[in-house]
Amino acid sequence: MKPLKLLSLFLFSSALLISCSPEPTQIVEEQAQPLAEIASATAEIEAMLHEHIAVLASDEFEGRAPATPGEEKTINYLQAEFEALGIGPGNGESYFQSVSVTEITTASDAVLTFSGSNYNAELEYATQMIVGSQQQIPTTSIADSELVFVGYGVVAPERNWNDYAGIDVTGKTVVILVNDPGYATQDPEVFNGNAMTYYGRWTYKYEEAARQGAAGALIVHETGPAGYGWEVVSGSWSGPQIGLQADNLNSDKNDIEGWLTLESAEALFAGAGLDYQALKDRAAQPDFTAVPLGDVTASVTIQNSVRTSQSQNVIAMIPGTERPMETIIYTAHWDHLGVNPELPGDNIYNGAADNATGTAALLAMAKMHADAGPAPRSIVFLVVTAEESGLLGSRWYAEHPVFPLETTVANINIDVLNTYGPMHDIVVVGNGSSELEGYLELAATAQGRHLVEEPNPERGYYYRSDHFNFAKAGVPALYAESGEDSVEFGKEWGAQQAQDYNENRYHAPSDEYDPNWNLEGAAQDILLYFDVANKLSRETGFPNWLDGNEFKGIRDASQSARQ
Ligand SMILES: [Zn+2]
Repeated sequence: MKPLKLLSLFLFSSALLISCSPEPTQIVEEQAQPLAEIASATAEIEAMLHEHIAVLASDEFEGRAPATPGEEKTINYLQAEFEALGIGPGNGESYFQSVSVTEITTASDAVLTFSGSNYNAELEYATQMIVGSQQQIPTTSIADSELVFVGYGVVAPERNWNDYAGIDVTGKTVVILVNDPGYATQDPEVFNGNAMTYYGRWTYKYEEAARQGAAGALIVHETGPAGYGWEVVSGSWSGPQIGLQADNLNSDKNDIEGWLTLESAEALFAGAGLDYQALKDRAAQPDFTAVPLGDVTASVTIQNSVRTSQSQNVIAMIPGTERPMETIIYTAHWDHLGVNPELPGDNIYNGAADNATGTAALLAMAKMHADAGPAPRSIVFLVVTAEESGLLGSRWYAEHPVFPLETTVANINIDVLNTYGPMHDIVVVGNGSSELEGYLELAATAQGRHLVEEPNPERGYYYRSDHFNFAKAGVPALYAESGEDSVEFGKEWGAQQAQDYNENRYHAPSDEYDPNWNLEGAAQDILLYFDVANKLSRETGFPNWLDGNEFKGIRDASQSARQ
């Protein structure tokens, strides 16, 4: 590698970004120069990516499953590469942060019973309902627990919305709709309209129900607003559920969490003398109040087997020269799905695109920042474990932060890079969220590229990778990806490539490294992220969420604590 070329490009990029107003002539002069340098810089980045992806996605790394020999190889490789770059450990003397992962398997013979004066039913596991618990103990249950329909189960003070207002659900079982009132009404003025908010995610619904003291929480499944069919719910809830080990064994969580099929829910509401569809419509209105389901109660007991193992987040850092506790944290998950011995033929989930590319990107960016020299603020490279099991490594970090969250300036997350060559556009996932998007837009403009809207915001991808755990802790988090408008082959071709990946390689053994991948677009994206981080590392301000965002309140509170 020849750091000189990269370095001069960086200086150009940051000069362009920093000098929005003063000395415009200087920008014009410099603009003509670096176009050739963009090409040589991207060529260097591409070479680094190819080198690292080939190793990380090799069969020898066994699909990089947490707590396997594949993990040992992966984290040792990462440590050795950071050391070779002269970049020190990010967790005191260590490059690792130990993550305690707990696996809970619920026995599949559980029966959910509804009893009322006019309605009695016994629901079968997996076909009519699915239940489990995050409590890390062998048995949990609800017994004759009163049922309450709480609509979307949302408490959003910034939107003046509280589905739990005026009702005490302590010890009761709440029945909740999936997604949010914005999706239900398709009114852009209600929540975020069609685009999902965090209040629409099922994880939020259980968290809120537990905060309200409910013993049980049951979500009604509907394919449209959930974004997936019942088989996805029953499939992903059956078998081992991976979580983080909790000191309190998650005793503050609901005793029982689960889902009802739409049919089961309709029968339950009818049995309580209520009309599910009519109540669902009311739940999308601001004046909705929770409705008890007559005298119907719920009972179920589940048996869990619980097992704990250790995995590692990898952390390296370039300390800031002036304000080292102020950090810009890059994240990418190193883990993938491992090996499935029951599969005939190739049974290694190499996870080349997902997420050897992002992991390699963090190594490439580590080199770029090392070459650019230290900044006033620290740059942290956090390569997390167990993303595929539910964003666990990043959640562990957010719950056990090495650097204070209130002085964490921003998170930039990379999960799957573009392997199809340069694109005109870049997609901000969850766009309209934070001020970081303005930084990205400036950098993209300098590359002659532009930001585009997320194609399927209702799927809530913003809540489905590691940056989300930073967002939840209030830290502005940026998650972007190349668009589909191929410079060489156009939009239709670009969309075909994305579809081909989703249908034929996503989470399949065929997600393998191909030396013919065109990583030029990926390298351009990396330059954008570098520009954003590099600029932030030399500023003194703290970017925030945009008004109306669900995480702004948390950030505002942590910022007033900082001051
Ligand atoms: Zn991923």
